[in-house]
Amino acid sequence: MTAVREAEALFATLTGHGPDGVWSAPGRVNLIGEHTDYNDGFVLPFAIPQRTAAAVGGRDDGRLRVTSTFADEPVEVALDDLDRLFPTAPGSRPAVPEWAAYPLGVAWALRRATGVPGHGADIAIASTVPVGAGLSSSAAIEGATSSALNELWGTGLDAVALARIGRTAENEAVGAPTGIMDQMSSMLGEPDAAIFLDCRSLEAEVVPLGMAAAGLSVLVIDTRVKHAHSTGGYRARRESCERGAAALGVPALRDVAVADLARAQELLDDETFRRVRHIVTENQRVRDTVTVLRAEGARAIGGLLVASHASMRDDFEISTPELDTAVDAALAAGALGARMTGGGFGGAAIALVPRDEVEAVTTAVRARFAEAGYAEPHVFTVSPSAGPHRDA
Ligand code: ADP
Ligand code: MG
Repeated sequence: MTAVREAEALFATLTGHGPDGVWSAPGRVNLIGEHTDYNDGFVLPFAIPQRTAAAVGGRDDGRLRVTSTFADEPVEVALDDLDRLFPTAPGSRPAVPEWAAYPLGVAWALRRATGVPGHGADIAIASTVPVGAGLSSSAAIEGATSSALNELWGTGLDAVALARIGRTAENEAVGAPTGIMDQMSSMLGEPDAAIFLDCRSLEAEVVPLGMAAAGLSVLVIDTRVKHAHSTGGYRARRESCERGAAALGVPALRDVAVADLARAQELLDDETFRRVRHIVTENQRVRDTVTVLRAEGARAIGGLLVASHASMRDDFEISTPELDTAVDAALAAGALGARMTGGGFGGAAIALVPRDEVEAVTTAVRARFAEAGYAEPHVFTVSPSAGPHRDA
């Protein structure tokens, strides 16, 4: 069943009637540019066909009720209570079940940003985006909810403003200190194109990928090792980057050039230096990828993907044995390039694969995982796809 049909069915179970409308937003894959977003740098993601749908109907009692196929039971709050529930104090858990802080946080952030009070609603959510796989199910749920409420409440925000609403919900309501990339790539997605995003200015350029014409597929290898953004390693990497930028006297690592790395090595301890080197070289690789895509096409970017993975594995230290295995096996079986994607510590890798070798690469990756005794990976292709829209 599609996410849209599933959300409609869930809505009917919850309320006994049909929704006023259904809106959906996609997950995303990041082609290259990892952990650069919160360093004011560059990323090159694209939206994927997997989507999260929100079936929504108005209520006249000023209450918001959210439910999801992902959740045990609905969560209901009064609109007027949103300002008491959020923001969540830094370092603590949201006052509602964590999953509900995404849609309710979006409602709270939208009201705060626009001053529009809105009205009550029932919201039923279903999704085909794997959760916690680095494909940004979080941006998809935020994008579906914000698109729905933006229309129902008449708040009239554009895609970039809604991306900011999603980020605010994730940072301040859920309490996950993530950057703006995920929301922007979900909100601005276009078929067969990637979004070249400057995370400082939020200027976004649509870069055609020409995957189909070049006979290429992007394979996602979901290791099914879950990551958790709001904790541990992600936070520690952010702190390393902030420390590095402060020691180098720049507002963000975006402002450090590859040529500055020799001086950085003298100033920083070894670990902080390697974290900084990943960000600085990764920013350059994103720009190089855009240049190569325009000049030579997608077949020529494989080496940059491989270099990105090595940098995340060795310098930023966010890969896992499963992700390294996925990348190595895919390359050995004929992928032109491969790298882990997303925040790391689990989740998924991507591989750029000639279309007629997708099956061979898939089989080879599965075999290597079995040999290593890892859980069977979830392997599927994704084509760059459209952003949010109203489905019904
Ligand atoms: P990712 O974005 O990589 O999938 P995150 O940890 O950022 O992983 O976001 C996953 C969280 O988002 C889930 O644990 C859940 O709280 C929430 N979420 C995502 N999709 C849904 C959904 N369909 N229904 C309810 N909550 C969801
Ligand atoms: Mg996420």
